[in-house]
Amino acid sequence: MTVPHTAPEADSNKPSNFLRQIIDADLARGTYASRRWAGSPGDAAHHAAGAPDPARIRTRFPPEPNGYLHVGHAKSICLNFGLARDYGGVCHMRFDDTNPEKEDTEYVDSILEAVRWLGFGWDANGTSHLFQASDYFGFMYRAAEYLIEAGHAYVDEQSPEEMRANRGDFGKPGVNSPFRGRTPAENLARFREMRDGLHADGAMVLRAKIDMASPNINMRDPAIYRIRRATHHNTGDTWCIYPMYTYAHPLEDALEQITHSICTLEFEDQRPFYDWVLQRLAEGGLLAHPLPQQYEFARLNLTYVITSKRKLAALVNEHKVSGWDDPRMPTIVGLRRRGYTPESLQLFAERIGVTKSDSWIDYATLEGCLRETLDGSAARAMAVLDPVKLVLTNWDEVMGAGTLDACSAPVHPHHPERGQRSFVIGREVWIERSDYEETPPQGFFRLFPGNKVRLKYGYIIECTGAAKDASGHVTEVHATLIPDTKSGTPGSSSVKVKGVITWVSAHDGLRAEVRMYDRLFLDPQPDAGGKDYLESLNPDSLKTVTAIVEPSLANAQPDEKFQFERHGYFVADRVDHAASKPVFNFAVGLKDSFGK
Ligand code: ATP
Ligand code: MG
Repeated sequence: MTVPHTAPEADSNKPSNFLRQIIDADLARGTYASRRWAGSPGDAAHHAAGAPDPARIRTRFPPEPNGYLHVGHAKSICLNFGLARDYGGVCHMRFDDTNPEKEDTEYVDSILEAVRWLGFGWDANGTSHLFQASDYFGFMYRAAEYLIEAGHAYVDEQSPEEMRANRGDFGKPGVNSPFRGRTPAENLARFREMRDGLHADGAMVLRAKIDMASPNINMRDPAIYRIRRATHHNTGDTWCIYPMYTYAHPLEDALEQITHSICTLEFEDQRPFYDWVLQRLAEGGLLAHPLPQQYEFARLNLTYVITSKRKLAALVNEHKVSGWDDPRMPTIVGLRRRGYTPESLQLFAERIGVTKSDSWIDYATLEGCLRETLDGSAARAMAVLDPVKLVLTNWDEVMGAGTLDACSAPVHPHHPERGQRSFVIGREVWIERSDYEETPPQGFFRLFPGNKVRLKYGYIIECTGAAKDASGHVTEVHATLIPDTKSGTPGSSSVKVKGVITWVSAHDGLRAEVRMYDRLFLDPQPDAGGKDYLESLNPDSLKTVTAIVEPSLANAQPDEKFQFERHGYFVADRVDHAASKPVFNFAVGLKDSFGK
């Protein structure tokens, strides 16, 4: 098989960023052109027997299956899968499950579903690229034995306290362990004893032998294997020693022939060790050049949002929200239930871009992406969220008692091909309570005695007053209909009005539960600087109302999005919505009002 290594052509629709520039340069130089790929992960010998790699680059998304993915992961997914797609590469879906005890198949399933839902997949060139790091334990062990034999690793029996004290700190070099001078043979024997379960958990660790005086503390002989008697979800009790993350991760990348290993900035100081361990293993012939390269980008920090899996789990466990998919949660399942679409999250990832320095992204940016992507697609509908009855007192006289007059409105104002919605108007309609004021404030153009407004897609009416109960609460607004003013008829512009209000007929309106969501936290940086994020929980983040919605919504399907005219975008709840009991979630307003 021949692989075309044509000149790199960056997708001109995509804004460039430092990662794209690196990939462009690598492709131009042919850095990865000589790689071979045996069709599955493996060491140098395995890949040497394979064909030239059909993937021009390989990236990976490597979550730990210990929680639900959130909006920060969405950024990483869009980045890694997006780069692979744009450059004719492959992105591997890898579960980083080297840490025993923490995995749960519930999380595995939800992670795969989230990636697929976002629009990405791991099948390419006829094979799946779904991997789990625990499948590499055998290689990781063999690589550790190699490092020992080559004099690059030793078994340290200092206590954890001694090790910590001897590591030094920023101003103070570390002190060599008394066990550092052991021969490879002694180390190998000890390491095999560790593997065979002859020592207690924590009794000793395998450390890389690098430099206890390195200015980078991560290079002061980092631990690479520890003893831990734990049953692993994949390997069971086969192992009682497990690799440390910083050792496991570069090996996983190398076995999978990853070219560009993209991670968040906190791993920058780990890069020298990442390179060190891969170079040592390449010297030993276990891995082949070119080796994967690590690149760091700034993680997503979003105002009013926390993205720590641990803290999100606490919100669920302490019942501050209804679950991982509560529409107020920044999890992908939560955002989805809130009405976010894959397109909106892809747009968001593109718009915020990737940078090398940490910053905060305004929540309004995320909302803007949703609004923009829904505007062109969401069907329109009228809904009254805080209903009060409006009686057209002259209806029987001018229209005839019991008459219902048919009205229509476009499903989408910019897509006439999507047709019309139909509803009726009669003597009684529902309007928003806030659309009537007995004594109108300055600039109020809606209903007050003596004022005329248009009922959208219907008639012009003139307000005559309201009925109230004993406590002064308005129970009914009264108005008269002005004949021959119906929208779309020749006389419709004969009377000029300043206000247009939305409404739903009492005859064909449907009752619906509408869940009005607001931000979960009042503090824009709820957990910054170790703040107690529970203290800034917004007590009003959910208000449930009984609304009256137009009859076209009787056909709403779970997950379907609508623009409720004047109010914003709503989604039929994917869990609770049913035709017999409609439930809509507020997704985002029509204008950016966040924080205002
Ligand atoms: P947590 O610390 O909350 O457990 P994590 O970063 O450990 O999250 P992983 O499952 O290890 O979560 O992450 C998988 C991938 O997602 C990693 O490559 C990581 O860099 C990326 N990622 C996680 N959080 C963010 C974020 N806020 N912004 C961008 N990328 C992120
Ligand atoms: Mg992690």
